[in-house]
Amino acid sequence: MTMNYRNEINHIVETRKSSYTHISDSIWEFAESRFQEYRSSNIQQEYLRSQGFAIQSNLSGEETAFIAEWGNGKPIIAFVGEFDALSSLQQEADKPERCPIPGKENGHGCGHHLLGTGSLAAADSLKAFIEQNHLSGTIRYYGCPAEENAGGKAFLVRDGYFNDCDVALSWHPHSTNKVTGADCFLSNFRAFFTFHGISSHAAGAPELGRSALDAVEVMDIGVNFMREHMISSARIHGAITNTGGIAPNVIPSEAQVLYAIRAPKLTQVKQLFDRMCDIANGAALITGTTVSVKQVAAYSNVIHNETLGVIMDEHLRSFVPIRYTEEELAYAEKFKNVITKLDREGLQSTVSQIVTKEKRQETLAMPILDLVIDRRSMIGGHGSTDMGNVSWVTPVGQANINCLAAGTALHSWQAVAQGKSPVAHKGMLTAAKVLACTGAELLLNPELLEQVRKDWIDELDGVVYPDPLPKGLKPEIW
Ligand SMILES: [Zn+2]
Repeated sequence: MTMNYRNEINHIVETRKSSYTHISDSIWEFAESRFQEYRSSNIQQEYLRSQGFAIQSNLSGEETAFIAEWGNGKPIIAFVGEFDALSSLQQEADKPERCPIPGKENGHGCGHHLLGTGSLAAADSLKAFIEQNHLSGTIRYYGCPAEENAGGKAFLVRDGYFNDCDVALSWHPHSTNKVTGADCFLSNFRAFFTFHGISSHAAGAPELGRSALDAVEVMDIGVNFMREHMISSARIHGAITNTGGIAPNVIPSEAQVLYAIRAPKLTQVKQLFDRMCDIANGAALITGTTVSVKQVAAYSNVIHNETLGVIMDEHLRSFVPIRYTEEELAYAEKFKNVITKLDREGLQSTVSQIVTKEKRQETLAMPILDLVIDRRSMIGGHGSTDMGNVSWVTPVGQANINCLAAGTALHSWQAVAQGKSPVAHKGMLTAAKVLACTGAELLLNPELLEQVRKDWIDELDGVVYPDPLPKGLKPEIW
């Protein structure tokens, strides 16, 4: 079958773009954080229902999770979306200076309003394409809550919701265009260490008290020493979530620290976590306290898929440069001027790695990096994603797509401010096209889908998904 499916999908996305931008702008306004994404989930469910998708919602104890499905039989092509916002990041749209909105708490600093809607648009457009061409197959959109600070997909994976998929595709808004491979992500555990001591008057009867805060401090020192003896690609960072109070004359009877523990492989994270449990026990012994440990989230490493990487890269290159109007470039320039000094240094380092010396100045001057970065380059890493968990049970393909002025960091107010701009919308629509075209190519070429599966099986090398969630753990807001 020969057909110019790229043009056709491009056309479908363009004719529906006002619906898609309306959904992403609404989710930006709702700005709901993990497991609270009721309105964000609903607006997507309503749209997909109106397009003929069947909806299954409230999954794995996550009220805002849903799967929208259309079509029948194999293959099952899944598009995966997120829509949670981040706390303490509320910011007025389009303002290139810090302008929090009074009374609001959250903001879309990671662009998940675009992420969810772009993946939804890919599912919706591929469905339209299948109908127009009388093809068969099943299209799914996975509405996945709480990517940030909970790893919502890990629970859906544990309960088998992705098991029958042939492929799962997703993307992330970014300030570059690049297919992201396994190297870009670290596996990640989150765990609380809660110390229990004995309260007493810090001056009157110090010998009767045992400080839980001392234990947190000793644990931190232990972890600092451990950092010297771990692989250099590992990362450990903590937040003291309970200091035990603000009164210096009361010995804190309870104190708590939350750690994120990251490394390229799940097994490496597990080893570091075990060592940290030993350190916690040591800290308890030293301070005469006790400790309880609760692991609350687990992001797995991503299983690489070379065939999907090649296919997505080819489609990404066909839609990039995205091309921007003078107005859009001027808009981005305003935001490029307010990135931090460190982000500017990061941008310089990125540019020096992706273009030749001769092109460096010219590229650095671009308000938006409207080019595709080699997918094998080591740029755009070391966060974590719960798409990693999905990649253990079905082949996963992902890309970063430009929605932001050059150098803009994710999780910043600058990213929130740009979330409803024409540049962000263009990135989201490009993502929808790249994802839908990848899906179409796999539908039209079953042998490619077989190759994708073969790559995945080879890469797993016989290892079965080691569910990293503690047994019986339920999704919760902690
Ligand atoms: Zn994100």
